[in-house]
Amino acid sequence: MSAPRLEIRLDRIHHNAKTLVDRLALLGVGVVGVTKAALGLPEIARTLISAGVTGIGDSRIENIETMRRAGLPCDFTLIRSPMISQAERVVAHADVSHNTEIDVVERLSACAQAQGRTHGVLLMVELGDLRDGILPAQLPEFVGQVLRLPNIAFRGIGTNLACQSGVAPDQENMDVLSSLADSLEATLGVDVETVSGGNSANLGWALSTADPGRVNALRLGEAILLGRDPLHRKAIEGLHTNAFTLVAEVIECKRKPTKPWGELGQTAFGPVKARTDRGVISQAILALGRQDIDPDGLEAPDGMEVLGASSDHLVLDAGPSSPAIGSEVMLQLNYSALLRAMTSPFVTRVISEGDGKAEDRGLASGVAT
Ligand SMILES: *Cc1c(COP(=O)(O)O)cnc(C)c1O
Repeated sequence: MSAPRLEIRLDRIHHNAKTLVDRLALLGVGVVGVTKAALGLPEIARTLISAGVTGIGDSRIENIETMRRAGLPCDFTLIRSPMISQAERVVAHADVSHNTEIDVVERLSACAQAQGRTHGVLLMVELGDLRDGILPAQLPEFVGQVLRLPNIAFRGIGTNLACQSGVAPDQENMDVLSSLADSLEATLGVDVETVSGGNSANLGWALSTADPGRVNALRLGEAILLGRDPLHRKAIEGLHTNAFTLVAEVIECKRKPTKPWGELGQTAFGPVKARTDRGVISQAILALGRQDIDPDGLEAPDGMEVLGASSDHLVLDAGPSSPAIGSEVMLQLNYSALLRAMTSPFVTRVISEGDGKAEDRGLASGVAT
């Protein structure tokens, strides 16, 4: 098989999605499966739909178009504010989009009229993370403007935390979102059908709260795909953390000193982390680089350690082993490494359903694996 390749286990993704869908259903919270880290791969989206998500969210209209072309039967939400330059495509292919600027919603309205469609709008509210969002004080007026636009359906409100500033979702900010929904209904007489509380970072709150309030949707990517809670990067109990494995090929393995020699400057990628001197080690090089992955987001197999990477070489301390030239090494990925591997044209994808046997490897039990 060709290398580097990303091995994708749909059975594990299905297990993760179904487990979260079931746990959140007890609270009346539906799951929008977020596919952006998987480049909108239709096989993954289909797996999420079969696990019971209420719809698919992606930040790129290109990915949504790919999934549409694959004929997937679900609602698609563009979870980043549309670019005005893409408004026509957004109306043509997404059912709903996240919005924070009236200029954009006006353009969506014009395109929707031209196409004879209705486009759903979910308004994002700023609750402190300082990424996208309408300030709460300006929300009622904004909703009023949206309601006057033809061919636009106001679907509800949402927020996004823990992405820009690391603000944690908690009872206090979720209660603010709920009361905004209540007050919009009371003052404007609108139906706030969807209250979308946030991303995978909301799970800690959602799975422990006694009162989800009006929050009835979460948008989950990382938790489903990697089985981790991004707030603390801890494995989520009962989920697989190894639905994705990156396989790369060894192109050099030699005993070399850990300390470089000669006068030291910066590399093409900036200053170098000083290496601890471990004497002579078994140093292996994989044909994989920064074009394909984020080296800081890779976990080498037991006994091996990632020392660094250039564009095309990943350098490992191979520990007590000396892997044969041409042999393969399997690595686990974090979100950032996965995102890059999925978007690298050099990394092929091998999608499988697994062997169907009950397999416990990689099933977290509350401890990071
Ligand atoms: C990426 C994204 C998500 C999903 O985030 P995860 O941490 O992967 O669950 C949810 N909402 C928005 C707006 C996003 O951009």
